[in-house]
Amino acid sequence: VSLFGGTESDRGGAGTTVTAHEERRRAVATTRLGTGTLACRRCDAPVALGKEPVPVTSRIVCPYCRHTAVVRDFLSLAAPTRPARVVVRVSLAIRAGQSNR
Ligand SMILES: [Zn+2]
Repeated sequence: VSLFGGTESDRGGAGTTVTAHEERRRAVATTRLGTGTLACRRCDAPVALGKEPVPVTSRIVCPYCRHTAVVRDFLSLAAPTRPARVVVRVSLAIRAGQSNR
């Protein structure tokens, strides 16, 4: 995508400088939202997940204090991230039998 600055009347005039810049965008949309920290809200212990993706609405248990809550309550996107670091992705969850109309 190319964008050129200046109005129509600015172009082509004697001594007029037209600034230009190029904006490049990736053709493939990413689903990656960022990196976050997964830690217990109650005791701040890191909570590790397995290799499979886990929805933010899944309930997990703190291995230290046994506090139980949904994943989004354990997740922080604040920088800097700490262990346990997790990759946060956006995905469309289509339930079985649900059509995509
Ligand atoms: Zn805890």
